[in-house]
Amino acid sequence: MKRIPENEHLGYSDTPILTDSGYHVHDGSRPQPPVVTPGDSGEPPSDATILFDGSTLNAWESINGGPVPWKLIGDGSVEVIPETGNIRTLESLGDIQLHLEFRSPTEIKGEGQGRGNSGVFLMGLYEIQVLDNYQNPTYADGTVGGLYGQRPPLVNAIREPGSWNTYDILWECPVFEGGKLAKPARITALLNGVVVQHANELLGPTTHKDLPPSEPHASTGPLMLQDHKDLVRFRNIWYRSIGSYDQ
Ligand code: MG
Repeated sequence: MKRIPENEHLGYSDTPILTDSGYHVHDGSRPQPPVVTPGDSGEPPSDATILFDGSTLNAWESINGGPVPWKLIGDGSVEVIPETGNIRTLESLGDIQLHLEFRSPTEIKGEGQGRGNSGVFLMGLYEIQVLDNYQNPTYADGTVGGLYGQRPPLVNAIREPGSWNTYDILWECPVFEGGKLAKPARITALLNGVVVQHANELLGPTTHKDLPPSEPHASTGPLMLQDHKDLVRFRNIWYRSIGSYDQ
């Protein structure tokens, strides 16, 4: 067996150059990817920004201005107080990996869009649906995991009411150039570890019973959670900026 000299473990400088990056194949000088300690069983990784850990809602505000009117529950979650309005982060976010968990009300009330409805609005504009779709059908593009009004989820992976569900989302903001959309927003999402959106492009911001608008908007925006008059709970909300390679 050929013995690999020790330095070859660290790379090469006599190999062909990759045209996209300018690095050699197996380049020894290419920056090392930063080490991140993964979180244990739902815990955030070491470089995450915590938006909500159950202790405080200081990272959030009411969309009507002022502090968050929703209810902190002792179990580490926050519950919608119906008709108090949506809440959003103080911080404006760009391309992110987002994690959050949500729970439909234990008391089953209403049907279709009227059962356990909330939503996660990326940039405050683009909704991925939160809905109790457990044995509760509705129109496909309003199903949990769907991009409301535009793209149904690949599958319906919701748990029973009262169970906690996880969302893991990769979000890429749209890019506008010269007043026109140059690159659409794109989303990949897993609901309870199951792919529900795969690098799916959005047509525009979320609307109800209408086509999405195409006007340019800011390049970043807050994360927003929807008050749709149902007692939905959220917990363990964090994000990481997706970042760039070779930094
Ligand atoms: Mg909704």
